[in-house]
Amino acid sequence: MTTNEESFINIEEIFGKNVFSIGKMKEHLSEEVYLELKRVMENGGELKRETADEVAQAMKDWAIENGATHFTHWFQPLTGITAEKHDAFITHPDKKGKTILDFSGKDLIKGEPDASSFPSGGLRATFEARGYTVWDITSPAFLKEDAIGVILCIPTAFCSYKGEALDKKTPLLRSMEALNTQSLRLIRLFGNTNSKKVIPNVGAEQEYFLVDHSKYMRRMDLIFAGRTLFGANAPKGQEMDDHYFGTIPERVGSYMRDLNIEMWKLGVSAKTQHNEAAPAQHELAPIYETANIAVDHNQLMMETMKKVAERHGMNCLLHEKPFKGVNGSGKHDNWSLTTDDGINLLDPGETPHENIQFLLVLACILKAVDTHADLLRQSASDVGNDLRLGANEAPPAIISVFLGEQLEDVVKQLVETGAADHTLAGGKLETGVSTLTDFEKDATDRNRTSPFAFTGNKFEFRMVGSSDSIGSPNTILNAIVAEAFCEACDVLEKADNFDMGVHDLIKKYFTEHRRIIFNGDGYSEEWVKEAEKRGLPNLRSMVDAVDTLVTDKAIKLFEKFGIFTRTELESRREILYDIYSKTINIEAKTMLDMARRQYIPAVSRYEMELSKTAGLLREINTDFSVQREIVRSIADELTAVHNACKNLEDVLEEACTISNAKDKAFYYREKVFECMEILRRPVDRLETMVDRKYWPVPTYAELMFEV
Ligand code: ADP
Ligand code: MG
Repeated sequence: MTTNEESFINIEEIFGKNVFSIGKMKEHLSEEVYLELKRVMENGGELKRETADEVAQAMKDWAIENGATHFTHWFQPLTGITAEKHDAFITHPDKKGKTILDFSGKDLIKGEPDASSFPSGGLRATFEARGYTVWDITSPAFLKEDAIGVILCIPTAFCSYKGEALDKKTPLLRSMEALNTQSLRLIRLFGNTNSKKVIPNVGAEQEYFLVDHSKYMRRMDLIFAGRTLFGANAPKGQEMDDHYFGTIPERVGSYMRDLNIEMWKLGVSAKTQHNEAAPAQHELAPIYETANIAVDHNQLMMETMKKVAERHGMNCLLHEKPFKGVNGSGKHDNWSLTTDDGINLLDPGETPHENIQFLLVLACILKAVDTHADLLRQSASDVGNDLRLGANEAPPAIISVFLGEQLEDVVKQLVETGAADHTLAGGKLETGVSTLTDFEKDATDRNRTSPFAFTGNKFEFRMVGSSDSIGSPNTILNAIVAEAFCEACDVLEKADNFDMGVHDLIKKYFTEHRRIIFNGDGYSEEWVKEAEKRGLPNLRSMVDAVDTLVTDKAIKLFEKFGIFTRTELESRREILYDIYSKTINIEAKTMLDMARRQYIPAVSRYEMELSKTAGLLREINTDFSVQREIVRSIADELTAVHNACKNLEDVLEEACTISNAKDKAFYYREKVFECMEILRRPVDRLETMVDRKYWPVPTYAELMFEV
C-alpha cells in the first residue's frame, strides 16, 4: 500500500478503482458471456466452462493492466479472519525462456488449499486434508495493493471434500437463499408478482481504537491478546463525554483520510466517521449493501484499518475491550429486507397500522427473535465480547426488541382490541427559538441500551463484537426469519379468507411473543429480574451460549432450510469451545510472563531503591518511616502478585489435563479467568504506588491520551 499523499481527493474517480465490478465486466466481456454471467449472479446455476474461461481471461487482463502479479482465493475460515494463498500468474517458461501469464476458468472457480491447518472441529482428520475454495460469483473480485505488490483477490466459499462448510460464508449464502424463497412466498400472498428476489441488506458500523505503535510494541498483552491484561485507570477516563463526536486530532484525521481512500478504491462506501465515547476510540460506518458483500467488505475494512494504522505509526485495536474502565468496541449490524425492485419490507410507511404486510413481517420477526433469542445471542458471542455485553456500556446479554412508542402502540392496540385504528404521530419539534426551524420529528425516540432495536426501516442488532465477523449474526438472522416466514405462509396459503387469516395470525404472534418487546433501560437490574420473570434467556458468556447451536430446536431449523447439517453444527460447537480455551490460555500465559519478567523485577528495583534510602536515612538519624511504610505496602502487594502467579500456573496445569472441549472451556471460564483477575488486581495497585520511571510498560494514560 502506498501512502495517499495527494491533497485533492476525487471520490468519483477512485471509487471502485480496484474492483472488477459489474460495469467493468460489461466493458471487458463479450455481450453473450456478460449476459450469462449476470444471469447466474442473479439466479444461481452453473457457469459454462467457456464462460468461466472468458471471465478469467478478462479478469486477469484487467488485473495485470493494474499491476497485479498474483491471484488468490480469498476466504473466511473459522478462525474469524480471512485467509489467502498467493499464486503468480506465470507458467513454466517456454523453450525461449519466456513465461506465459496464465489464469483459467478452472483457476477462477475452484481452489484447493491444504485445508488441514484450518479449524474443522473434527469434520476432517489431518490426513483428509482436501478442502475447496469456490468462487462466490455474487461478490466482486478486487485488487489488494500492498507492500507485497498487487494481488487479484477472488472472494470464495470454503468447503470440505464432502461439501461441508468450513467457513462463515457458505452458511450465510445458504441462509440468504432460504430467506429469499420464504420472503417471495410471503410477498406473493400480498399480490406482489413483480419482485423476483428478496435480499437482506446489511450495514455494519465498526468501532476501533488507535494506539501509538512504539508504545504498542512495549506491551506484550497488546501484541498477544489484543487487549491490556493489566493497567490502572488514568486519572481521566470518558466521564466528561468530551471525546464522543469531538474534534478529530490531526494524526487520527490523516489516518481516517487514508483509510477512506483505501476503502473507496475497494468499492466500499465508507461514509460516516467520528470519535467514539472512549478516549482513542473511533468509528467508521459504510453504506449498507447485500449481506454477503457487506460481510466481505467488513472483513476488508478490519484488515485495512490495521494496515493503514501501521503506515501511520499506529496500531488499530479491534478487540472488544482493549482497556478496563472505559467503553469497549462493538459493531452495530443494521439489517433490513429489500426486493430487487426496491421495496423495503421493513418500511412501515406513514401509517403502519394500515400496512398489513409490514405488520406481518414485524410479527414474524418478533416471533423469530423470541423463539431463537438464544441463537442470536450465540451469534454475537466471542471471547472479547464477554467483557462487554452486560457491563452497562453495551447491550445486556439478554435479547429483547425495542420497537419504539409508535409501533409498540400499534402492537398494543392489536393485542388488546384485536384491531389497530390509528398511529401515533411524531409531532413538531419546537425549540423555543424563533430562528431555528421547527420540524416534524421522528415518531420514536432512540434507545441506546436495546440489543435489537427497530430504527425506522431496519433492525439494528447491537450486540456484535468489534473484532468478530458479521457472517454468523446475519446467517442466524436470515435463518430465523426464514423459518418464521415459512410458518406464516404455511398457514396463510391455506386460509379460506386471507384478510381474516392474516389479521388473526398477526394478533396471535404479537400476543404470544410480546414478552420479547422491551422499551426501557436495558442496563438496569430490574430488567434482569423482569426478563427472568418473562422467561427470556440470559446467557452471560460465550461458553454458556455455545450449546444453543445443537439444541433440537436449532438443528431442526438449520436442517430444514439447508443452512447447517447436524455434523456442521457439532463441528462448530467444538471449534468455539476450543477457541475459547486457547484464547484464555494465551492471555493467562501472557499475564504470567509479564508479571514475572516485567512487573516483579521492576517493582523490586524500586523496592531496593527505597530500602537503600531508608537505610541511609536511618544512618543519619532521620525519619525513614515514609520509605518504610511504602516498602512494606509494596512488599505485601508483591507477595500477592507472586502467590497469584503460582495459583494461575496451577490452574493452567490442571486445564491441560482436561480433554473434553466443553469441560475445558468451562474450566477456563470459571477457574482460569478468575485467577487472572486475582493476579491483575495487585499489579494494578502497584502501578499507582511505584515511581513511574520504574514502570516497565506504557500506562493507560500514555496509551489513550498520547496518540
Ligand atoms: P445511526 O444508526 O448511527 O443513526 P444510520 O441509521 O444512518 O446511523 O446508519 C447506520 C448504518 O445502517 C449504516 O451502515 C447505514 O448504511 C445502515 N442502514 C441504513 N439504512 C439501512 C437499511 N434499510 N438496511 C440496512 N442497513 C441500513
Ligand atoms: Mg447506529
